Amino acid sequence: MKVEVINTGSELLLGHTINTHLATLAEALFPLGLRIQRQTTVPDGNAIRDAVAQSLERSSYIIITGGLGPTSDDLTREIVADLLAAPLEFSDAVWRQIEAFFSRRNRQPTENNRRQAYVPQGAEPLPNPHGTAPGLWFDTKWKGEERTLILLPGPPRELNPMLYDHVIPRLRSRLQLPQPIQAIWSLVGLGESVVAEAVEDFLKNLSGVEYGYCARNGQVDIRLVAKENKPIEKAAAFFSEKFGERVFRSDGKPLEFWIVQMARERGLTLALAESCTGGLIAHRLTNVPGASEILRGGWVAYTVEMKLEMLKVPARYIETYGVVSSEVASSMASKAREIADTDWAVATTGYAGPSGGTDRDPVGTCYVAWSNRRGTTEVERLFFPMDRESFKLRVAQCALDGLRMRIG
Ligand code: ATP
Ligand code: MG
Repeated sequence: MKVEVINTGSELLLGHTINTHLATLAEALFPLGLRIQRQTTVPDGNAIRDAVAQSLERSSYIIITGGLGPTSDDLTREIVADLLAAPLEFSDAVWRQIEAFFSRRNRQPTENNRRQAYVPQGAEPLPNPHGTAPGLWFDTKWKGEERTLILLPGPPRELNPMLYDHVIPRLRSRLQLPQPIQAIWSLVGLGESVVAEAVEDFLKNLSGVEYGYCARNGQVDIRLVAKENKPIEKAAAFFSEKFGERVFRSDGKPLEFWIVQMARERGLTLALAESCTGGLIAHRLTNVPGASEILRGGWVAYTVEMKLEMLKVPARYIETYGVVSSEVASSMASKAREIADTDWAVATTGYAGPSGGTDRDPVGTCYVAWSNRRGTTEVERLFFPMDRESFKLRVAQCALDGLRMRIG
């Protein structure tokens, strides 16, 4: 059974809007055992017609997003009705919902909004409490074959609840497909080819799985999809034997999520002393709900003065070793930990560039330190000669991964 997605909207093709619907849909469909086979983006207007006609030839489920609004460029409903020879019928029930939507906001619907109350004959409206455009579920036939078209509104805050409240439950009860198991392992600081070389032979011979690699943000993911747990368990054992603590099961969640979870479980607290990462580590950790239980706080100690004044880094360290040095990173971490009275502290100091750096430590060099309550401080020297944003990202990633391994 084939599932296709058609995303409509000229803004998607002009680069004004990023097509998030595709990811939202793919993620929501996967647990049902459904995969999107093909996706098309078309501008508003008549291009939608060709795209829908082509999809009807080959796919039994076609999800179309956008173009259900009241304006003249919102044509999806009309095009679908016309293509499937399903005359549009005015629905009193839908119109009452639209009126209710406006009256809750003390506003009046316009004449344009009446268009949104028309439903192709045989289609069912899907309620939209967050907007005026109802979605549509349309079981129909195309050249004798059964087809289901699902029309969803463009704004994500309308599409998402409609998808999860109405579309997914319907698909689940109708299709009852075997549900796949997905597992994702991640490794930070290793190249994609190194990882692939280490695991490819094993994965090739592991039956009952589909696998793939994905490299991003200084991290390589190995993704497995299987029908049962056995091969997933086998793979887990193999990866851990191969990579030790470097590998972790991320299941698509970012490192900071796992750190917050692990630290909460172990009752650990954390402080940060960030120089070259400029608060990125704090930002990432505070994106995770529950971060307040583990992160006591930190400093963006960017200048030498701040390192001296706020973190009490001894001036002679900076004079003797330089501000980007193992000694300064280590001192930043241990002082931050002491001042904040936490179990752990992480510090970063480096040359993001484009200027700065020394012969010993050229632009791209960074020292990351991890300090714990037992008085142990470890430092790692990293080298990421790249643009500032990537540099920060990679350093933060290594700092977080180092913390994960140490508290794990
Ligand atoms: P409206 O009633 O707002 O006109 P609509 O169903 O006609 O709803 P569109 O006009 O296509 O939807 O899009 C409305 C909003 O949703 C726009 O801000 C658009 O950028 C956003 N949007 C549309 N499609 C996508 C998509 N694929 N990914 C992310 N955002 C999208
Ligand atoms: Mg619109």
